[in-house]
Amino acid sequence: EGVIRDITERINAEDDFKKSEEKLRTLADFTYNWEYWLDPEGKMVYMSPSSERITGYRADEFMESSDLLIDTTHPDDLSSFKEHLLDENNLDGVLELDYRIVTRQNKVKWINHICQKVYGDDGRYLGRRVSNKDITDGKIAEEELRNSEERFRALFYKAPDAIIVQDYKGKILDANPAAGQLYQMENDKLTGKTIFEFVPKESRSEFKTDFSMWIEGKMDNKRSFILTTTSKSIPVEIHASRIRYSGNDALMFNIRDITAIIESENKLKEAKENAEQADMLKSVFLANMSHEIRTPMNAIIGFSEILSDEELSKREREEFIRYITQGSNTLMNLIEDIIDITKIEAGKIKINFTECNVSNLMDELYATFLKIKNRNGKKSMELRLNKPVSDKDFSISTDPNRIRQVLSNLLGNALKFTDEGYIELGFTLERENQVVFYVKDTGIGIPKEEQKLIFERFGQVEEAQDKERKGTGLGLAISKKLAELLGGNLTVESEKDVGSIFKLTLPVDLGAGKVEKKKIEIKVPEINWNNKVILIAEDSVLNYTYLEAILQRTNVKLLWAKDGKEAVDMCQENDDIDIVLMDIKMPVLDGLNAIKEIKKFRKDLPIIVQTAYAMPEDRERSFAAGSDEYLTKPLNATELFKTISKFIN
Ligand code: ADP
Repeated sequence: EGVIRDITERINAEDDFKKSEEKLRTLADFTYNWEYWLDPEGKMVYMSPSSERITGYRADEFMESSDLLIDTTHPDDLSSFKEHLLDENNLDGVLELDYRIVTRQNKVKWINHICQKVYGDDGRYLGRRVSNKDITDGKIAEEELRNSEERFRALFYKAPDAIIVQDYKGKILDANPAAGQLYQMENDKLTGKTIFEFVPKESRSEFKTDFSMWIEGKMDNKRSFILTTTSKSIPVEIHASRIRYSGNDALMFNIRDITAIIESENKLKEAKENAEQADMLKSVFLANMSHEIRTPMNAIIGFSEILSDEELSKREREEFIRYITQGSNTLMNLIEDIIDITKIEAGKIKINFTECNVSNLMDELYATFLKIKNRNGKKSMELRLNKPVSDKDFSISTDPNRIRQVLSNLLGNALKFTDEGYIELGFTLERENQVVFYVKDTGIGIPKEEQKLIFERFGQVEEAQDKERKGTGLGLAISKKLAELLGGNLTVESEKDVGSIFKLTLPVDLGAGKVEKKKIEIKVPEINWNNKVILIAEDSVLNYTYLEAILQRTNVKLLWAKDGKEAVDMCQENDDIDIVLMDIKMPVLDGLNAIKEIKKFRKDLPIIVQTAYAMPEDRERSFAAGSDEYLTKPLNATELFKTISKFIN
């Protein structure tokens, strides 16, 4: 029994299939893309020859080795590619995947992989059809673009300078965060506004001109001002460049805040000007110096010679002596000023804080300057004293000598530059922990522009200088420095032809000043030393004569040794000597060695050193040699009496 079936249809269908497959293959063979087909089990059914162009491997190699497809996959993309191969469920439609392969030539290529499930007419699943495209060039370009975009965004966003892009009408198109910070608003909010809104009114017209120049490319950097949203005007430097922005012409501003730069430029300029002025003042001073010294010297030498003329009348003699004294005082002042300023500048000046009775100090200064005023014959000018505190014990802790020095200088100046009206010395206690001493005058005043100069070394108002008023120009410089060393300051308010007021402001601890203190008072007048003997060791006749003139008044008996050796001998011969005034620089045996010798046999004999050497180390050396006290020349009579009294009363 047999069955005969007509299979014409099937044979024809197979034929048709073969034919159509051949057609498809022929078509696929010529595709530019790399094509392959996989059967439902994943077995390679077809590989297009173009695989060789893209992968370097021939189609037959792929057909033979089922692993080659996996082997050529880039290790980093392997897992995603495998996942894709195994993913049967998800293959309803078309699936796309970008992945990398490594070619036979070891080159990495980017592949755009499109995979499609294929079904027969009868709905049977036939496998996958894959079309791979080499997209390496596009990928590289894309990546480069992304990188460069990232780079430039970073530059724009992270730039410390404000960057603003605007069109040629000034409309802001973009602004970075630094711009937002500069203008004090969110950078995004700047977009859409015009740049001219942020220019201060007074610079706006200039800015508009600059803007046209920038558009024309005729200007690069420019200093200008910008206005922040809080209406603060800030100095800036703008660097403008013409750019293309989103296909249009635009201007890019790099704006830098130059507040700090301008500040340091100004400081530098000021320092330079100060240095130049100091240099100029010094040259002027040096040129004047020889004249300053010679003028009083001429008077001293000239009139001293004339004095020996016996024919002179008493009046003439007194007049000449006055000239000599004046000259000497001028010279002494000059020397003291120079020493003071040098010491201050070398940081060698010491401030000794002690209790200072303000009331007494004021009285003393007032009395001294009243005498000077009367001596100068300034009758139409009044000297006033203003003490707002009646408490006689009102004291502050400071260096009384330095305050006296500053106020004396101010009073001296006031006296020099005031002929009519009044000069007032006083102090105020307007604020807690602060005393303001002042010297006010109705004198010639100081023009505003000179008010800084007068506190500089050698600074003087030129037109105020005449023969009578010639000074060194150092007084105020010294006073200001002293005021600062005392923790305060010295200032001036003045108007030309109206007058001046100099204020010395000092910080004080007022509470501490009120503490009761024992008063130490030494009475100088009416000394009688008629039973005492003083030995003066002094090689200069002039100095001895001066000491003699002062001490004679006490009826003391004086002995004179002209050198150290003589002093030692006289001490040995005269047991009745009560005290020795010892000069240091002397011939034969100097003072210090003489002291050592004398102390060997008269340990308790008080010896006071009196010297013109006023260096701190001289003082130490004197005490080391055995001296009991130390005085510097020129000797002040009151001080001399006080010191001797300590030992012989
Ligand atoms: P000196 O008085 O020796 O010239 P200072 O430093 O004390 O030096 O003063 C500097 C300059 O300041 C004076 O030369 C003078 O031009 C001006 N000056 C100071 N005090 C007064 C004052 N009370 N009235 C007017 N000018 C003054």
